[in-house]
Amino acid sequence: MTKNLSVLGSTGSIGTQTLDVCEKLGIRISALTANRNVDTIETQIRKFKPELAVMADENSAKELKIRIADTDTRVSYGMSGLCEAASIKSADTVLTAVVGMVGLKPTLTAISAKKNIALANKETLVAGGSLVMQSAKENGVKIYPVDSEHSAIFQCLQGCHDKKSLKKLILTASGGPFFGRSYDSLKDVTVEQALKHPNWSMGAKITIDSATMMNKGLEIIEAKWLFDVDVENIEAVVHRESIIHSMIEYTDNSVIAQMGVPDMKIPIQYALTYPERYPCDVGVLDLTQVGKLTFYKPDYETFKCLKACKRAIAIGGTATAVANGANEEAVKYFLNKKIGFLDIGEIVSDALDNIKITEISSLDDILSADKNARQYVIERI
Ligand code: NDP
Repeated sequence: MTKNLSVLGSTGSIGTQTLDVCEKLGIRISALTANRNVDTIETQIRKFKPELAVMADENSAKELKIRIADTDTRVSYGMSGLCEAASIKSADTVLTAVVGMVGLKPTLTAISAKKNIALANKETLVAGGSLVMQSAKENGVKIYPVDSEHSAIFQCLQGCHDKKSLKKLILTASGGPFFGRSYDSLKDVTVEQALKHPNWSMGAKITIDSATMMNKGLEIIEAKWLFDVDVENIEAVVHRESIIHSMIEYTDNSVIAQMGVPDMKIPIQYALTYPERYPCDVGVLDLTQVGKLTFYKPDYETFKCLKACKRAIAIGGTATAVANGANEEAVKYFLNKKIGFLDIGEIVSDALDNIKITEISSLDDILSADKNARQYVIERI
């Protein structure tokens, strides 16, 4: 079980819930990081007394330094600061909850420093899965999933004694706010409508990814790397109630599902306490209240991002980094109301057609694919 944790992205949705879990379990905090949210990180520093706090930019770091001058916490900033938080000596585990590809370098740094990883930051595995998994293997560190679907599969797999008996992973998807809508009817949906997720309360980027179903595409790629399963054997199924968090199917067609109320504290806690379980501050699942569970096939024609992710996996090399980079940039433009909702899927698909895909032999290959994808989006808009 984790004793000392470094939390990358501590001020976000996953980060704050992680700190609630740590407080209950008595896990000590070595480092906290944020982008620009000085108010929240200051409160967290006063409560958890970390050795190090990191802001993404220098100005926020200067402001934080002044505000917490009366504490023992050291302040750093930028990518070097994030990597310092990721490799801080006192932490045995690093929970990665920054949003986007910015998490890749710190995750690799943490693995090289032999820290176990509790991974929420799925973009890291989507862009750099081959490097991350190889490095984890070489350094003998564990990667515990925080994403609810991957935690569900990880939990279902606890009873799997022979990988040969595993046939399929079945990832559930809520379908987001636009489930059942036709492509044309989504033309004028607003940012506010896209940010209204039916079941989960999450950061803005992942909420938009859920509305476009890019999130499920990213998760299929994440599952491929985490569980070393071919994508042909990973299926997505829409399950509106978000009670079954994912399933595995064995060769004898027996299916094991993991269920619970939709609350991220369960997978966060399991990633930190594995293999042990402790009481968790979440609601009890009452299936008689839920009544019925429903399942549907995903609509690959309306939700083009999902289709694009499948195509990116088939292309291989840097294609998933390209799809991810194009999506991150397109989501930013959509949130700023510069492009429409349907443009996101078009942009991700077009990026795959227009950007040169290469093999991955180093981090630079991934960073360069990501940069090209973002540049492509900026020029296209
Ligand atoms: P949020 O947007 O709520 O939080 C993101 C965190 O990252 C914040 O601490 C933010 O700081 C920080 N951050 C943002 N940009 C940068 C940057 N450029 N450099 C350094 N730090 C940065 O996101 P979520 O918590 O929702 O999601 C985090 C990750 O977890 C994502 O990869 C998401 O896909 C994944 N995830 C989230 C789930 C959820 O329920 N929220 C479920 C499963 C996975 P600041 O507050 O200062 O902006």
